This record gives sequence, C-alpha cells and structure tokens, in this order.
Amino acid sequence: MQLDLEKVRMYAKKADNRALLDRVTVFQQGMEPAAIEIIKKELLQRGISPSDICQHESIYKDLVIRGPEGMPRLCKKCSLPAISLEWGWLKVFGFIPLLPWQYLFCEEHKTRV
Ligand SMILES: [Zn+2]
Repeated sequence: MQLDLEKVRMYAKKADNRALLDRVTVFQQGMEPAAIEIIKKELLQRGISPSDICQHESIYKDLVIRGPEGMPRLCKKCSLPAISLEWGWLKVFGFIPLLPWQYLFCEEHKTRV
C-alpha cells in the first residue's frame, strides 16, 4: 500500500494536538516514518517540542491497553487510546441487560478512578 503523504499533511493540519501526540507516540508502531515526521513537524509549528512528545509518550506508554497484536485498543466512545477496562452490561436493543461485559475507555470517558 502506498502512503499518501498529502493526506497525512491534511490530517495533521486538521487534527487537534492530543490526537497528533497520540499518533507519534502510542500509535507510532503502525505508522510510516515519513508520516511520523510530518506530524512531528506540525506539532513543532504549534509549539510542542520533542521533549513534550517524549513526556506524552512516557505517560501513556504503560497506561494504554493493548490488543494481542500489540496495537493500542481504542475507547468505546471516542478515538483516544483506552486506558481503563470497566465492567458494564452488554445490552439487547440497547437497553435490556444481557451479559456482564468489559468495555474500554480513555481517561475522559472512564468512570472508574
Ligand atoms: Zn473516550
């Protein structure tokens, strides 16, 4: 698959700082080095230094929940990496509780402290 660097550039312009920081840290194993460079450059233009990126990486490296293939799992409600595994109910038709079920949440959506 050929990487469309122009698409990466457009994404980098639109995405918020948090999403870009996640891209170059917790999600970087699935990314092309050229794409990582583009995003790091964009972060630098926004005033986020390489040491800020390192700090973000050290905070989330051990916090994120990873799947069997080593890729970070995502929050049930948004696209941030999941850091909390919580029990809830798997519901039929969205409201009838069927089974206890584990859900993944990011720090914004987690309910467990
Ligand atoms: Zn979330």
